[in-house]
Amino acid sequence: MTDGTDMDDGQTPAASQQNPDGRALPEFMGRAGFERELLDNSSNLICFCRCGTIEYVNTRGMRILRAKNTDNLIGRPVIDLFDQDASFLFAAGLDKFARNDEGTLLKLQSLDGTWIDVNMRVFQLDCVGAQADPVYMIECNDISRYVKASEQTLHREARMARILETITEGIITIDEMGTIEDINPAALKMFGISKQLAVGQNIKVFMKADERANVDDAVARHFTTGEANVIGGLCEAEAARADGTTFPVEITISEIDEGDGRRKYIGVMRDITVRKQQLKQIEFLAHHDALTGLPNRHLFDDRLNQALIVTDRRKSRLALMFIDLDKFKSINDKFGHEVGDIVLKSVATRLLNRVRASDTVARVGGDEFVVILDDVGENENAAQIAQEMIDTLTAPIEVGREKCEVGASIGIAMYPEDADTASILLACADEAMYRVKAMGRNGFEFSMRPIK
Ligand code: GH3
Ligand code: MG
Repeated sequence: MTDGTDMDDGQTPAASQQNPDGRALPEFMGRAGFERELLDNSSNLICFCRCGTIEYVNTRGMRILRAKNTDNLIGRPVIDLFDQDASFLFAAGLDKFARNDEGTLLKLQSLDGTWIDVNMRVFQLDCVGAQADPVYMIECNDISRYVKASEQTLHREARMARILETITEGIITIDEMGTIEDINPAALKMFGISKQLAVGQNIKVFMKADERANVDDAVARHFTTGEANVIGGLCEAEAARADGTTFPVEITISEIDEGDGRRKYIGVMRDITVRKQQLKQIEFLAHHDALTGLPNRHLFDDRLNQALIVTDRRKSRLALMFIDLDKFKSINDKFGHEVGDIVLKSVATRLLNRVRASDTVARVGGDEFVVILDDVGENENAAQIAQEMIDTLTAPIEVGREKCEVGASIGIAMYPEDADTASILLACADEAMYRVKAMGRNGFEFSMRPIK
């Protein structure tokens, strides 16, 4: 027989008090009133030792130790079963363990070399005479599964902690009152604050002063009506660093039920300063000419339509100038395209310097510019500005050592006299400009044929 579980039920009481391999059980066990069956039915390893030597191991213990029979166990020092780290504990004597009710966590090695985590409890038997060597009952509860599970939990937590450490999003945990309970390194960096200073503060310290009241309103609404429009979705806000400077953030807030009726909120936030700047840049490029930075055709159309509405309302007059540079191609041919670009930028600056802030200068083609002169009054005013523009544009433009000279042909259309729509007004100015070209360039003309 190799395993106590195989033993017949019909054995005599004397025979049942034997080791699983059939040998008689230590005599002290009978005196102490131990029933073999009771021991073998235990779910823990139980062994008895005297003078540090194993005298009995129950069936479960044999299974845990993967022992086929007791030959390899009985008579062995019990210390052999445990890892070396435990040897100094055993050296102190088993009686020291016997005083610890909670047990001691140790590693036990089975006969096939497998390590098993156990909680060991030691009991000293008082059945033996005062003269005899003390007998100890050692009970080991196999806790490998729990140790493994808790190791996995620790591993998971450590991994989560590492993720939270390295994540670029700021993560802040607050309680129902908005008190900061936890904050990750990214958020500390984002707000320029230390963890000691941040934890315990109200989350509102990280918001722009004039947005704090909105937060109070939203939180109050959330608690009184359950309305949770800030929970789950993405929202944008203006955040405040510890030094008072502000920056735009995108926030997602999640609600966590702590299970005890309390709720927590986790805010994940991203600094969107760069994204906002890029959007602004894209927006700018959609409406402006990349070379000169002037409004492009699209924005010019908008501005002209707006200007006509304002002119109607004020019952004033507006001048639209269409400007085409003269012989500009020759600048490119003579000095190169890059120099031509610099000349175009210079033209833009010179035109801007000749108009009021409320006027618009736009680039609508290669060397074509348009100018909207708001509330211009008499035609003479428009004529004077056109002449000043020609004067300023014909002055040589210095690019490095080169002196570039251009002229300008300007057609002027007046609103409301020449046209009643933006596109017709533009056609009138264009027609006048072509007349200047035809007449020899570098001058200005008013629209002659109202195309109403
Ligand atoms: P005209 O006196 O009849 O107006 O002749 P022009 O030489 O000024 O030529 P035109 O107005 O017919 O054409 C404008 C030229 O401007 C065409 C092209 O070579 C040049 N051009 C257009 N866009 C750019 C640009 O972005 N940079 C540079 N350097 N040149 C450009
Ligand atoms: Mg031209």
